Amino acid sequence: TIRWGLIGASTIAKQYMIDAIRAQADGEVVSVMSSSADRAASYAKENHITKGVDSLDALLSSGVDAVYISTTNELHLEQAVAAARAGKHVMCEKPLALTSADARKILTACKEAGVVLGTNHHLRNAGAHRAMREAIAAGRIGKPVAARVFHSVYLPAHLQGWRITKPEAGGGVVLDITVHDADTLRFVLGDDPTEITAITQSSGMASGGLEDGAMCLWRFKSGVIAQSHEGFTTKFAGTGFEVHGTEGSLFAKDVMTQNPIGTVTLRTEKGDEELNFDREGLYVRSLRAFHAAIRGQGQPAATGEDGVWSLASAEAALQSAKSGKAVAINPGL
Ligand code: NDP
Repeated sequence: TIRWGLIGASTIAKQYMIDAIRAQADGEVVSVMSSSADRAASYAKENHITKGVDSLDALLSSGVDAVYISTTNELHLEQAVAAARAGKHVMCEKPLALTSADARKILTACKEAGVVLGTNHHLRNAGAHRAMREAIAAGRIGKPVAARVFHSVYLPAHLQGWRITKPEAGGGVVLDITVHDADTLRFVLGDDPTEITAITQSSGMASGGLEDGAMCLWRFKSGVIAQSHEGFTTKFAGTGFEVHGTEGSLFAKDVMTQNPIGTVTLRTEKGDEELNFDREGLYVRSLRAFHAAIRGQGQPAATGEDGVWSLASAEAALQSAKSGKAVAINPGL
């Protein structure tokens, strides 16, 4: 059995990750930590978790093998490093930290401790994205030329908190959603970005100087160029992911989401073909790969290095938005 401790009494843990742990044949949620003892107790009760604690030390000494960190972003660094030093495997939410330099500190701590580090980039676990990656790798669109990512959503009322009011907690749409687009582009294209140009906006929802919309232009090593749109304020935009190649195009609809939904169409001179793909829950698959990695079988779906790449990309996007210039993406790995 792999015994999990939750660092952070969060929405994402309640909505997806507790169930994903329990969906594993050998997964158990043992304890949860909140900064408030009352919240820890009520969250534990509500989610049928034996122990609710209000300190990191108590969580790390509650008999756990692995921790899932889903606190606000400024807390990930200290919590991940402490967990690694206590010998716990670490599944950390994105962004791994507020800067890629801090994210690399998490990587180093986990390497030194010999524990597994995963970044919870759920989208590369989606059957839709895996089907696109496979189609591209199999040459079905010829040579990839360009990609477009549509990932502007409406932040639901219950999440309109730190993300739109607290720069010090790592709020803003770039650290929230551009990181996912970076990871999904890297995964689907099997390529790494070299440069980004971004513009951002504060269109009325975010305050404190935070951005609630972004448009980015990306250049990849292979020469592929891409555009991405991330937002919190568009109720009806829908999501999508397209890759266009010399011999074909892939059109995925409704796939930048937490659920295994959407469609992928391959268009070539032969016409349109709907690609079939697996509909396993994204977080369930993410946890399955993580459990296997703990047993020495393979890597987490998204590794710590992948988390550094996505954060380095977001960091470059924010710098570009500020300077008005293209910025090189350098993960420093
Ligand atoms: P939440 O706002 O739900 O939780 C973050 C923290 O806020 C919690 O740790 C908790 O602190 C505090 N908190 C939450 N609800 C309340 C409340 N009702 N009253 C007081 N405090 C509260 O954040 P999310 O779950 O949306 O995000 C958490 C992390 O997960 C972030 O890093 C985010 O980027 C990431 N995330 C990743 C997703 C993915 O698909 N990979 C999707 C959504 C989020 P405490 O623990 O001290 O009680």
